[in-house]
Amino acid sequence: MPYTITDACISCGACVDECPVGIITQGESKYVIDEAACIDCGACTDCCPTEAIVPA
Ligand code: SF4
Ligand code: SF4
Repeated sequence: MPYTITDACISCGACVDECPVGIITQGESKYVIDEAACIDCGACTDCCPTEAIVPA
């Protein structure tokens, strides 16, 4: 199951460098995960100050 980013995202950018496969990018209103490429490692979840990164 891939992870996804909810509307709770405040676009702080902290999660980008946590992803080992580099598939978190800045979207129009929040950051987004390329869910098709997510390897479900969970490395990005702990750094998020708003707990916006959740299982899709
Ligand atoms: S779960 Fe892992 S692969 Fe998926 S977006 Fe988060 S850090 Fe990247
Ligand atoms: S760490 Fe959380 S709040 Fe910051 S950009 Fe990533 S998803 Fe958004």
